[in-house]
Amino acid sequence: MQNPPRALIDVSALRHNLARVREIAPGARVMAVLKANAYGHGLETAAAALADADGLAVARIEEALALRAAGSRNRILLLQGASSAAQLAMAARDGFDVMVHSLEQLVMLEQRPPGAMLRTWIKLDTGMNRLGFRVEEFAGALARLVRIDGVAPDPTIVTHLASADEVADPKTQQQLDSFEAATRALPGERSIANSAAILAWPASRRDWVRPGLMLYGASPCPRGSGTDIGLRPVMTFQAEVIAVKTVEAGETVGYGGAWRAGRRTSMAVISVGYGDGYPRSAGPGTPVLVDGQRAPLIGRVSMDMVTADVTGLPGVRVGAPVELWGGMLPIEDIARCADRIPYELICGVTPRVPRIIS
Ligand SMILES: *Cc1c(COP(=O)(O)O)cnc(C)c1O
Repeated sequence: MQNPPRALIDVSALRHNLARVREIAPGARVMAVLKANAYGHGLETAAAALADADGLAVARIEEALALRAAGSRNRILLLQGASSAAQLAMAARDGFDVMVHSLEQLVMLEQRPPGAMLRTWIKLDTGMNRLGFRVEEFAGALARLVRIDGVAPDPTIVTHLASADEVADPKTQQQLDSFEAATRALPGERSIANSAAILAWPASRRDWVRPGLMLYGASPCPRGSGTDIGLRPVMTFQAEVIAVKTVEAGETVGYGGAWRAGRRTSMAVISVGYGDGYPRSAGPGTPVLVDGQRAPLIGRVSMDMVTADVTGLPGVRVGAPVELWGGMLPIEDIARCADRIPYELICGVTPRVPRIIS
């Protein structure tokens, strides 16, 4: 029997990681970031496990509507705000908080017909240079926003950091200084920190923190793993051995004959590939755990299969469980082997992989 790969989702780890965020940032409220299907973990599952968060944040209105449809009664923030009058009306109807990051969005709010009171967050661009009002425009934009009928008083002031994962990079301190200078005299709560900032930049923790990756148990830092900082991995990506065979010295394995056996090699074929979201860039030597024992990949990652060298591993048989990343094999290590970041790996697990709640 051939078992497809599956992603085990440990909901107690999600709750643990939320508690860990509160431990690290005790004074702050937590806006848990659930965009992109909760970083690949399943929006509904994550929303249910994280219902104790002070709010849930998503990138797009479709994600927010899906949360409401799944029964979430949390405060929900649209990180990119509304992109049309129709979206704004939906946001007001469903009580979503909206980000206001551009002049277009400000004008849309000014032109909104009378409706339900909207809670807004306003974004200041302190150097990410993606979304947000520039420092010199900011006070004017905020003044316009608070004058609008139907906008709740005291919008939360937000910025996003570009390099918080690099503690030696002066960019973060510059952004924090620029935020302080531009907002010192203004009312409203503040929100700056993503996961990396929560961990590395205490001054960024303020009224609201916005953790994403760390809730899922992975570390945003270039070195180390989530477990080093008291997090528990939420996703364990598993597959199975579907064939065991021997290749002779000199024979090649897989597409392009890209890997050649230097010696007689016992090999396991494993039921996962890039069609499941296992990164094709994971080169030979990337570890997998076969029956709990580390084995290096050989050959190229195919759509539905990978191959690993199990020479010297006793008792590897068809049906043996394989862990690709998770509880026993840090995703950060796999990301490094594949020249990816953990974010891409968890977000990239494809829809054909069942998420199994455990
Ligand atoms: C995605 C996102 C976050 C969360 O970032 P992590 O690095 O996953 O913690 C926070 N704030 C904004 C605006 C985001 O887009």
